[in-house]
Amino acid sequence: MSRFNNHCFETPRTRLKDAFAHIDATVQRVSGLDHATMDFVMCGYENEPPLTDMSISPSQVAKELTSGSALWQALECIHFKLRFSGITRLLTHQIVRQRIGITFSQQCSGEVDWRHHDMLWPRNINVNVAVYSMGSKNAYARQVDAQVPLQEARFLLPHCLETFIYADCTLATILNFVSRRCCTMTNSWEMVTLAERLKNAVCLKIPEFKDIFRNPCEHQQCLYFKAKPSDGIVFPWLPDVVHAVKPNPEPLYNVTHAEGSCGYPVVKDEYWIGMETVKKGEYDADCP
Ligand SMILES: [Zn+2]
Repeated sequence: MSRFNNHCFETPRTRLKDAFAHIDATVQRVSGLDHATMDFVMCGYENEPPLTDMSISPSQVAKELTSGSALWQALECIHFKLRFSGITRLLTHQIVRQRIGITFSQQCSGEVDWRHHDMLWPRNINVNVAVYSMGSKNAYARQVDAQVPLQEARFLLPHCLETFIYADCTLATILNFVSRRCCTMTNSWEMVTLAERLKNAVCLKIPEFKDIFRNPCEHQQCLYFKAKPSDGIVFPWLPDVVHAVKPNPEPLYNVTHAEGSCGYPVVKDEYWIGMETVKKGEYDADCP
């Protein structure tokens, strides 16, 4: 059964906005911070199967998990439902490479008409060239209007359109994801920002978890420090403060990750109807 939302013959409406500002990671639900996980933790130290008081609070369980005495596999007892939004398909393509202990559900482009999706714009590309991406988006809409199936029309869509993805995973997976994706020498700014915001979202929900996130870059244990020249890996940026102890002999760019990606002015909102920019009031009035 198709759930196609029919926007045929509607002129594409596009809000162009700052990509960095809109990246969001939200913890929708946490489960497992309960007596059963506490039993799991205590199992190794008891003579009889432990039966923890059911009134134990999530905070007490979280404290036990982060005390250093709990076995690592107990982190797999804590499950998260996450929502990543304000992101592009460039990023979801990278997110889904995390495979162990995680599953995903992503917004479809073969069932949904994307003509009205917002456009996320990076700060280091002049907004004047957004007209080309806008042209692709409008061409897509014309193909859909001409009965070209969405599965084929989407070949025309630009990468910069806003989308979202949901994930279901364990705490152990989140720790692994953040530790690998927070490195500025090996990840895109979009990914580093998402990893930081995911960490913040988890710690906001469960403050006791703040100290179990470990940044391997600060301990010189990320890929940048481990890689040998003979590995042939190219690291594009100049080392920032965290990585400065090891020079990068052949950077592609003569700036740090932060300078080269987000060290530019914030992209101001633009409102487009078709191929024309309009004032916000006119854009809002056009919305159904
Ligand atoms: Zn690093």
